[in-house]
This record gives sequence, C-alpha cells and structure tokens, in this order.
Amino acid sequence: MKYFMETAFEQNGSVIKWKDTIRISLEGNYSTMDSLEMVKIIKEVSPLINVKVILLPGNSSNGNLIINLFKSEKDYKSFLSAGELDNMAEGKTKYKFSFLSNEITGAQIFVFHFAANKYWILRHEFCHALGLSGHSKGVGDEQALLAPLVFKSIEDSDKWQNENTHFPDADKKSIKLLYSENLPIGLKFTDFKKEPK
Ligand SMILES: [Zn+2]
Repeated sequence: MKYFMETAFEQNGSVIKWKDTIRISLEGNYSTMDSLEMVKIIKEVSPLINVKVILLPGNSSNGNLIINLFKSEKDYKSFLSAGELDNMAEGKTKYKFSFLSNEITGAQIFVFHFAANKYWILRHEFCHALGLSGHSKGVGDEQALLAPLVFKSIEDSDKWQNENTHFPDADKKSIKLLYSENLPIGLKFTDFKKEPK
C-alpha cells in the first residue's frame, strides 16, 4: 500500500490510467528475443488490468504505446546529447494524457538497448507507462521495479535483474489496484488517504 501511494500519484497528484486498448509497437533494431520478451510482459500484465493490451506487428505506425530500443549506442548517445534523457538514465517514459480526464492516451518508452538488465528496465518503464509514474523509497527486503535495489555492487544488481525477468509482487499488486474498478480515474492522493481500507 505504501508502495502504491508512493508510485501512483506522481502526475498531477491524481490517478492516471489507460481506458482504451493499449497497442504496443516496437521500434528500432529489436531482436526476436525482444519481441518474445514483450509477449511475456503482456501475458504477465493482462490478467491484472481491465484494459486490453496487444502487440502490433513490427514498426507499426498506429501504436499508442511506442517502445524505442535504440539501434546502436551511437543513436542512443545522440539522443542523450539532444537533451532528451539525463545521462544516468537507462530508460525513460513520456506520456500523453489528458489533464482534464487523467486518461493516458499514449506513451513512449525509451530503453538503452545495450544495458545488461534491459528487460528489467523495460518492465520498470512499462510500470510507468501504465500509470505508476513515481518511484518508491523502498519496500524492505523485497525487490520491486520502482524501488532502489540493495546490492553490494552494480554488477550484482545487474546480474540479479538480468536473471529475474518478471514483475515482482509489489508491482503486480500496485498495477492491479491501479486498474481496479473501485479506484476511479483522477482520484486525488488526498482523497485516497481518507478512504477506509
Ligand atoms: Zn523510473
């Protein structure tokens, strides 16, 4: 619950979510493995939400969730130097949403293709794209996509993330809660806190 409160109200202080079918389109020089991973992600997320998620055939122009995997390190670096990403970021999500209705109408995910833990990053950004726009300070010993991970080294952290390509429980619970019928779109953080649990 604390995790949900930290992550679900970052935009506008309100709940934002999708209402229309999410049509995913992969862009850039992605591999078969990348699209298989995307299918896996859709399978993991679909039972949690009341919105349909589909994967369009490669480089479709009518997607509303565009996932950019950079063609090369050079492409990524020129993207960085254009000021689109801060230097440390391994991924980023941009939204299109209505300030009036709080409905997400589109999103674009950027993932650093060469990162060893790119599927962890992809899932992290996918949580953002679904509407969990914030980050958590941590969930104790549990691992969660939107919380800092506690490891001895970056290598340990990358290794763990590389081997654990699935949505952790904290994220699954939060996605499910975000898309439950009881949680109205646009709900304010202050009103959420008042509600009896
Ligand atoms: Zn993030």
